[in-house]
Amino acid sequence: MKSFEYQAASSVGEAVVRLQQAKGTGVPMGGGTDLVGLMKNRVVNPELVVDLKVVDSLAYIRRQDGGFALGAATTVADVQFSAELGTDYPLLRKAASLVASQQIRNQGTVGGNLCQRPRCWYFRNTLTPCLRRDGTYCSAVLGENKYHAILGGAGCFIVHPSDLAPALIALDARAKITGPGGSRVVPMEEFFVLPREDLHHETILKTDEILEEVQIPAPMQGAKQVWLKHRIRQVWDFAILSVACQVQVRGTAVSDIRLVLGAVAPAPWRCHTAERLLRGSALTPENVDRAIAAELAKARPMTQNAYKIELAAELMRQALLG
Ligand SMILES: Cc1cc2nc3c(=O)[nH]c(=O)nc-3n(C[C@H](O)[C@H](O)[C@H](O)COP(=O)(O)OP(=O)(O)OC[C@H]3O[C@@H](n4cnc5c(N)ncnc54)[C@H](O)[C@@H]3O)c2cc1C
Repeated sequence: MKSFEYQAASSVGEAVVRLQQAKGTGVPMGGGTDLVGLMKNRVVNPELVVDLKVVDSLAYIRRQDGGFALGAATTVADVQFSAELGTDYPLLRKAASLVASQQIRNQGTVGGNLCQRPRCWYFRNTLTPCLRRDGTYCSAVLGENKYHAILGGAGCFIVHPSDLAPALIALDARAKITGPGGSRVVPMEEFFVLPREDLHHETILKTDEILEEVQIPAPMQGAKQVWLKHRIRQVWDFAILSVACQVQVRGTAVSDIRLVLGAVAPAPWRCHTAERLLRGSALTPENVDRAIAAELAKARPMTQNAYKIELAAELMRQALLG
């Protein structure tokens, strides 16, 4: 690990000023469960690390505008064990409870989970070329790509590793971003970027900005909420594929739906096509299969990951019809 300066931030304002002064050589840190490994492997080599976990005012779960607000330094375990959140957002509680292991959930923060870097083994190994780092090509194209993207890849084929991200997008959450010029709030879906928009970053954050808060509106009334995660080991493992959905049915037809896939694309994948086809239709197996097929028609599998198309279809079927 290269030597660096450590700064325990006393406030969000101080954190932002220190990052601004570092002119792109500083990084914020939550629990450090991802960042420290990246620094040890010299994938990320900051001159300044600004610790946000010690900012007391950044760890909270509170009621706000009929929904909830979560401070970025709230731990994943706090989300997992919050009775209030669990009542309104069972899909978020389930997603949080299946992140990694209890030790990592105790240490890892909501901000860090959403801003964690890709798990692609070529990205994390500085000896292999990687377009996202600073290489001239993506090693996964002709290499080991069974866990890589089937949707949204363009030059780079990472999948976004966060479990909280698809769950929060299905809940229509927003991200409050704070930088030197103040704060802005964006839909969580727009917080993440695909390689065709930015090849080197997974979020819209600038180097002197932090994710300060996640805002979750009240859930859709009477909606079914589902979180499904397929992984190889049953504990301590990232998703091979996940599905988050909120679906509201009035009478016999779907009145509202938000359907999101995890681990299929470089950003959480909102299934806009399937949602459009299902809105106003009955949740019959035929309608569901038609909507899923239309969504997955966009998939472009690599040499080893075509299985993800059938896996995605099956998990979506279970989520919508189960
Ligand atoms: C063995 C293992 C298994 C795992 N399995 C899963 C899993 O199944 N599902 C899953 O979702 N995750 C999984 N993870 C990832 C784990 O959840 C993350 O490491 C953790 O959530 C990151 O939180 P942190 O607070 O420690 O982040 P840090 O390591 O502190 O930071 C991660 C990144 O986010 C940035 N960052 C942190 N906070 C902010 C902020 N507020 N604003 C802007 N940028 C910020 C940092 O600069 C850094 O780039 C696993 C990790 C390991 C090691």
